[in-house]
Amino acid sequence: MLRGFKGTMIVNADLHIHSRFSGATSNKMDIETISLEAPRKGIDLVGTGDCLHSGWMKEIRQCEEIDEGTFELNGTRFILSVEVEAVKRVHHLLYFPGLSAAVDFKEQIKSHSRNLETDGRPNVDLTGEELAQLAKDVDALIGPAHAFTPWTAMYAYYDSLRDCYGDMTDYVSFVELGLSADSYFADKIKELHRLTFLTNSDCHSAHPVRLGREFNRFEMKDAVFSELKKTILRQDGNKAVLNVGLPPQEGKYHESACIKCFTHYDLEEAKRRRWKCSCGGRIKKGVKDRINEMADFTEPQHPSYRPDYVHLIPMAEIITKAVGQRNPFTQTVTKRFDELVSAFGSEINVMLEADIAEIAKITAPAITEAIQAFRDKKVIIFPGGGGEYGKIELPSDEKIITVSMGPSDTQTCLSDY
Ligand SMILES: [Zn+2]
Ligand SMILES: [Zn+2]
Repeated sequence: MLRGFKGTMIVNADLHIHSRFSGATSNKMDIETISLEAPRKGIDLVGTGDCLHSGWMKEIRQCEEIDEGTFELNGTRFILSVEVEAVKRVHHLLYFPGLSAAVDFKEQIKSHSRNLETDGRPNVDLTGEELAQLAKDVDALIGPAHAFTPWTAMYAYYDSLRDCYGDMTDYVSFVELGLSADSYFADKIKELHRLTFLTNSDCHSAHPVRLGREFNRFEMKDAVFSELKKTILRQDGNKAVLNVGLPPQEGKYHESACIKCFTHYDLEEAKRRRWKCSCGGRIKKGVKDRINEMADFTEPQHPSYRPDYVHLIPMAEIITKAVGQRNPFTQTVTKRFDELVSAFGSEINVMLEADIAEIAKITAPAITEAIQAFRDKKVIIFPGGGGEYGKIELPSDEKIITVSMGPSDTQTCLSDY
C-alpha cells in the first residue's frame, strides 16, 4: 500500500490491538497472523499492543527492526504500543520510541502491578498523572483509550483531562475516540480540540470484522515510529489526513441501555429510573449521552487541522447482509470476502475506491448493490448500547434479519469496544 508522493507517503495505521496474551482474545492473535491479515484490510502500520508482556515481546523481537522502535514482518510494519489500566480502571494508550524505552518503563511500573506477566493489558496502581510522568521519562506518547466508553475510560470517571492527568495534562497528545464516537461528537468538547484524534480497532481477533475496523490515514515521511510521533504531534508537515471508523451507532455503547436485556433509554428516562432497567439490570450511560452531557458546543467546532472522518462498515458485514447469512464468520462470507480482496488488493480499496462496475464483474449482484448502498449512505443502522453492537440493515430488505457482529461479548470481551 504505502503510496508515496512529494517525499511523503500515505499510511493506514491501526494503533490499538491486543495479542493472545491479553484476556478474552483469539488464540490466533500471533504476530504472523496479524502481519498477514493487516494488508488484506489495507492496513500498513499496526500498534503491537501488549508490548510490556514478555511472551509478546519475544514474538515482536522475531520481526526485523527496520528503524528504532519499528518492526516489519511480511511487509506489515509494527510500532510498540500497550494499553495500561490505571487507577479507577481507566485505560491509557502508550507508544514507545524503542525496545529500551519499553523495557525501562516496564521496570518503573513493575512494583505497581500484579499482573505484568499474566495479562498483556496490565493493571497498575498509578494515577493518570503518574503514568504520564513515567511515559514522559522514556519519551513515550500517552493518551486516553476509547475515552468516552462507560467503563474503563477517562470520561467514565473524570470530567476533564486535567482531573485525570493533573499537571501532566499538557503532555497528553492524543485521544482515542473508541468505536461508539467520531470526530463530530468529540469536537463538541473544547478541551479535546488541541489533541490528535486516533481511531483504532482495539481488536481481540484478526478477523476482518475486527482488525482495522477503525484506522487512521496519515501523511508522513516514512512508516516508522519517529515519523509517527511527529504525525501525532503535527510537526514537520506530517499529519493525519483521515480518521476512518464504524458509524458510531454501531458501537456497543453508543446509546444508554441495559447491560442485561439491552433495552435502550434516553438520558432523562434513565435518570428517572436511577439507571435501573425494568428487568433489574443496570443501565449504562451511552457515549452519545455522555458526550452531550459534557459538550461545550451543540454543534461540533472542528479545529483547522482536524481531518475528515469517514464512516466505514466492515465489508464482511455488508456481504453477510447481501447474501442473507446470519453472521460474518461463515464460509460463504469468507469466500466472497476473499474473492474481492484478491481482485482489488484490500478491503479498503473495495469499499472506498474501486469502480463499482469493476466490482460487479467479480462478485454477486446482491453484493455489488450492497456496496453501492453503503457508498450512498443508505445502509440502515440500529444503534448499539449496553454492550451490544449496533445492527445494520440493507435498504431493500423486505424482512428484517439483523446481522450479529459476533457473540454479545459484554462479559468475555469487556474492552473489545
Ligand atoms: Zn434490562
Ligand atoms: Zn481498553
